[in-house]
Amino acid sequence: MVSRFAPSPTGRLHLGHVYSACLAWNRVQASGGEFLLRFEDIDHTRVREEYYAGIETDLRWLGMRWQDEPWRQLDRLAIYEEALQQLRDLGLLYPCFCTRKDLAASAPQEGDEVSKYSGQCRSLTQEVRETKLASGVTCSWRLDMTKAAREVGSLSFVDERFGKVHVEPEVLGDPVLVRKDIATSYHLAVVIDDAAQGVSEVVRGEDLLSSTHIHRVLQELLGFPEVGYLHHRLITDEAGKRLAKRHDALALATLRERGWSRERVLAAVGL
Ligand code: GLU
Repeated sequence: MVSRFAPSPTGRLHLGHVYSACLAWNRVQASGGEFLLRFEDIDHTRVREEYYAGIETDLRWLGMRWQDEPWRQLDRLAIYEEALQQLRDLGLLYPCFCTRKDLAASAPQEGDEVSKYSGQCRSLTQEVRETKLASGVTCSWRLDMTKAAREVGSLSFVDERFGKVHVEPEVLGDPVLVRKDIATSYHLAVVIDDAAQGVSEVVRGEDLLSSTHIHRVLQELLGFPEVGYLHHRLITDEAGKRLAKRHDALALATLRERGWSRERVLAAVGL
């Protein structure tokens, strides 16, 4: 068993992260496996050096230990590029010139920017694509999921809570694999790194369950092994809203300063 906690160093850890990290840690302890810490720092404009250090301090305070120096995804852009080339060679990527505004306009609900992509740029002609690319306008690159699904056939994954889940490749439309601002994306980097680090079980919030459908397709396209999953319930505030970086009052560092013990923190997330 190799499990990991993979936070983004764009803020301080809150109780939701604590829950995720502790579940992964406990499962590794129970099986005598290995626990890894990995920094998913591709949101490079929001990353701060103090957040990396703060996360390590928090996890150590919780009693966690790891052997290797945590990987940083920003150090691995060349590796992601190799995988992208494989997908390009299979003819599975296309440039997307949609702006945030275009995406918002086609989203089913207001503010629902990350919902299913309409596929608008998939149907651009080669000529239009080339003209736009030559003009130097910025673009992201998306995976043509219809083609990819044909390539990989029927897939499933196994989740501790949800059981065997049949993969619906198009659940989020054509996902972005290369963002406009950086030569990778969450979906691409997470799949490559989990495989490269030999992760056998991914523990994360159930908000990422739909992303796993994409990840399973990417694993298959890139020749990576299948991994097990545990998509856990989300920790919410008193109003029932899931915790986010804005909940700084529930940051672990804040609770610690207020004198909370480790036991009290764990009890607060139901562990
Ligand atoms: N970096 C992601 C986050 O902080 C974690 C995603 C994952 O565990 O796959 O939400």
